[in-house]
Amino acid sequence: MLEDIKKKVVSVAKKACESGLCLDGSGNFSIKDEETGYIAITPTKLPRAEMTYHDIIIIDSEGNIVENKTGLKPTSETMMHLEAYKTREDINAVVHTHSMYATSFAICSEEIKGVVFEALAYGGKVPLAKYGRPGTSELAKSIIEPLKISDAVLMEKHGALLVDKDIDVALTKATYLEEVAQMYYHSLAIKSFLKSDRPLEAIPEEEFKAWKYPESMKK
Ligand SMILES: [Zn+2]
Repeated sequence: MLEDIKKKVVSVAKKACESGLCLDGSGNFSIKDEETGYIAITPTKLPRAEMTYHDIIIIDSEGNIVENKTGLKPTSETMMHLEAYKTREDINAVVHTHSMYATSFAICSEEIKGVVFEALAYGGKVPLAKYGRPGTSELAKSIIEPLKISDAVLMEKHGALLVDKDIDVALTKATYLEEVAQMYYHSLAIKSFLKSDRPLEAIPEEEFKAWKYPESMKK
C-alpha cells in the first residue's frame, strides 16, 4: 500500500545520506498521505544503503502499525513525527537530521542566526526545543511550541527538524539550515580570531520579508 509514497521516503532518506546531512542510518523521515492520513516512516537500525521501499512502515496517526512488510520497527523517534503532524495540520512531511553544524549549535543550546538570505528557505528563524531523551514523549512534546512558530526547529543536544507539505522541500530546508549553520559557525570563528567586538547580527525579519524577485526580470 502507498507504494509511491514509500518510494519517495526512501529516495529522500538516501539523498540526505548522499549529501552528507545524515550518516548511515542516522536521521529519520516520513510522509503523511493526505487521503488516508496514514504515515509512511523509515525503520530503525537499517543502513540507508540497504533500505528499499518494502522496509518503510505504514502507521496511523496514533502510531499503530498498519503495514509492516519486513518486520523492522519504525524509527525510535516515531512519537516526534506523530506530534509534528498533530501540531501542524498543514504539513505532510517531516525530515529529521543530526547534521554536523546545525547539531553542533543544538549541543551548545545556541541559536543559528539567519545571517544570509539562504535562511529564507526555512523561514529565517530556528527556535530551540528543550532537551528530551531520544525516543521519549518528553522529546516528542518538546517540539510542539517551536513548531507552532517555525518550519525549522533545533533540538537541544540532538539535531534538527524540518517540516513542509512536500518532503523534497523539507529536505531542501534541512540542506539550507546546515549551510547557514556552517557559514554562521565560520563567521563566529573569524570574529573570534580577529577579536572583533562587533556583534554578529541576523538579517532582520523585515528585511527577509522585503525580498522579492526583481521586477525587471519578470517578463
Ligand atoms: Zn534524532
